[in-house]
Amino acid sequence: MPIDATQPYDDQNIFAKILRGEIPNRTVYEDEWALAFHDINPQAPDHVLVIPKGAYVCWDDFSAKASDAEIAGFTRAVGHVARELGLVEPGYRLLANTGFDAHQEVPHLHVHIFGGKPLGPMLVR
Ligand code: AMP
Repeated sequence: MPIDATQPYDDQNIFAKILRGEIPNRTVYEDEWALAFHDINPQAPDHVLVIPKGAYVCWDDFSAKASDAEIAGFTRAVGHVARELGLVEPGYRLLANTGFDAHQEVPHLHVHIFGGKPLGPMLVR
């Protein structure tokens, strides 16, 4: 069920549990600001999720409330992961589903990195 982007942060969400080490993940990269791990249900040959270490529901919450250091650290982590995956030259897609119409399911901000094949048009009509 998609989430409401304006809901308060729920520290029992699955990505909060991953950050606390309560459930496993296939980590690609971790630093002070972000954790990147393989999506459990990949939609492309490369499908990695990057999440901030801070407790933010979605892109709206993060862009409004995160510190400049958190935003810079998270943004740099996303770029670093894409480079480490070798996706810059072939190209890749970033996606941050936000709220109900975007079908965001996990209420902790995550940026999807998709790559590894031509990804086609942006949206299915
Ligand atoms: P979204 O629809 O943008 O909220 O996407 C949530 C994503 O989280 C989906 O692509 C799921 O496959 C992925 N996902 C859910 N649980 C896990 C998990 N435990 N480990 C890795 N990815 C997950």
